[in-house]
Amino acid sequence: MADIIQLLPDHVANQIAAGEVVQRPASVVKELLENAIDADANQVKLIIKEAGKTLIQVIDNGKGMSPTDARLSFERHATSKIRAAEDLFGLHTKGFRGEALASIAAIAHVELKTRQPEEELGTQITIEGSEITAQEVVVTPEGTSVAVKHLFFNIPARRNFLKSNTVELRHIIDEFQRVALAHPDIAFMMYHNGSESFNLPASNYRQRVVNIFGNKTNEKLVPVNEVTEVLKISGFVGKPEFAKKNRNEQFFFVNDRFIKSAYLNHAINSAFEGLIKDGAHPSYFLNLEVDPKTIDINIHPTKTEIKFDDEHTLYAIIRSSVKHSLGQFNIAPVLDFDLDTNLDTPYNYKNKAAATPTIEVDRNFNPFAEEMAPKRSSSGGGSASAVSFKKDTGASWESLYVGLESKGTRDEEDFSEVEFESEETTEPLFQDNEVGATQNTYQVHNKYIVSTIKSGMLVIDQHRAHQRILYENLLKSMTVKEAVSQQLLFPLELHFSSNEIPILESLKEDLESTGFIFSQFGEDLVEITGVPINVPESEVSIILEQLISDVEQEVPDSSFSATDLLAKSIAKSLAIKTGQSLTKLEQEHMVNSLFACKEPSVSPTNRPTFITMSVDDLDKKFM
Ligand code: ADP
Ligand code: MG
Repeated sequence: MADIIQLLPDHVANQIAAGEVVQRPASVVKELLENAIDADANQVKLIIKEAGKTLIQVIDNGKGMSPTDARLSFERHATSKIRAAEDLFGLHTKGFRGEALASIAAIAHVELKTRQPEEELGTQITIEGSEITAQEVVVTPEGTSVAVKHLFFNIPARRNFLKSNTVELRHIIDEFQRVALAHPDIAFMMYHNGSESFNLPASNYRQRVVNIFGNKTNEKLVPVNEVTEVLKISGFVGKPEFAKKNRNEQFFFVNDRFIKSAYLNHAINSAFEGLIKDGAHPSYFLNLEVDPKTIDINIHPTKTEIKFDDEHTLYAIIRSSVKHSLGQFNIAPVLDFDLDTNLDTPYNYKNKAAATPTIEVDRNFNPFAEEMAPKRSSSGGGSASAVSFKKDTGASWESLYVGLESKGTRDEEDFSEVEFESEETTEPLFQDNEVGATQNTYQVHNKYIVSTIKSGMLVIDQHRAHQRILYENLLKSMTVKEAVSQQLLFPLELHFSSNEIPILESLKEDLESTGFIFSQFGEDLVEITGVPINVPESEVSIILEQLISDVEQEVPDSSFSATDLLAKSIAKSLAIKTGQSLTKLEQEHMVNSLFACKEPSVSPTNRPTFITMSVDDLDKKFM
């Protein structure tokens, strides 16, 4: 038979790549603004017409491009920002994939004008659907202007998929605000249909927040500043009495990059616990600085998701820093000694400077184990403690796999890919006195589980493996519709913004097939009376928030399946995190459950869950 594989022509490859990078006008805005910042501009202007459907233009006064670079910039994987894979671990620029301009040019009409400060003349390039139609020498201010017109002109399906101007403009403003907040030292302007929407002079962070969100914001900001070995945190949280009904004022930046993290958001909510009403959302504008080596920003093409090496520790630090700030600024209720002289103490305490509380980080801190357990029982959802990651209770761990047992976990046939060492033949290397423990699993750095097998050893990524296990379970219960619900004693009311509610509503049926029971869909809230058996009540809001953000980020295409997305999203939320220490029993259970899965070797997002190393491989290492 003749060979049938062909390389895709560049313009087709670019269009495909564009689908990942450019979902809507706001994605173009993000990429262009980031390029301006990467070019060291200190003034950036964004011009929008008809919510970006007719024009998106970004003008900067940065370092510009030479004629050759200008032309190269539209090639796929053309970037000035990294040269080798190692550079990925020390990134200080926003872009690095060299995909944005190529992708945008594949699906729009683009006009680029650019001049380097030291040159007298600049370059103008016009490109339409990846085809360069003109390149000229022009008189143009120093810096770069990129105008993107007729977005999706050659992909009608995508163009028709765009939402109303109001919705698309909202997304653009969101991106603009995120970038502007991350860079207060750069002046930003935004115009929509000829009128000025924002004019933000270079300023300090506080002024930037106030310039974006209005003068009244000033009085409600409480500074947060903390420096620890692993994390520097700075910025502001809103005073509790100003908590909002929606989540429009919640911003996390990691190394100047806006990120979404339902988990870290939870850390802040828990710092505000008891200070704000249920259903209200605290405002926050927080910058986290971490060693770039400890994060992986490469996991999503639009890069608002990020993977931290040790989320547990970050959670603890963020929570206590915010608590500390709220306490220090007398937000948390305190006795005011100056007001009531009867309360005067014999000592002169009131004139003494208060000692700053120090923060100690418990590396094994597990917010879910200690804090949420009591809350759950008080709300009556007794069996909700199913997922509690308490360390020494094998029993609670077991219930993570509700439903798995029936699959015949221990069947020999299930271990088709990996042959396990049988216990009798194992010569224990170390004596382990733990009752019920076997000697053939070890946890490394609270991240990997190492297990010996006949041919050598397995190294399992605990977070990904657990995602796979939960994902298959969820999919199963959703397709067979046999999910077991656990009734809540008191209905759970959760607040969402008006654009989030329709997303949840569209997933209602699928959510119900996992075990959720909704009793009401309001304008800005949902009422839940039942949750899946293995989901603790306290995590429902995290799960739904994560789900909404996953749906928002999903590139809609023909293979989109709400069921699959839901299962992936919930699995991601519930899976134990890196940094979580596991008992021998838990490790063993994880290994067994993983290999009872249909596709044990990859996570739901297609990343390897384990690697094997044969004795041969090991032997080679010792040669
Ligand atoms: P990336 O940002 O990932 O490198 P892009 O496709 O966004 O990829 O841009 C490709 C290259 O074009 C950049 O690496 C940069 O060298 C150049 N470039 C893009 N925009 C600008 C700009 N506004 N000013 C100067 N150079 C730019
Ligand atoms: Mg870029």
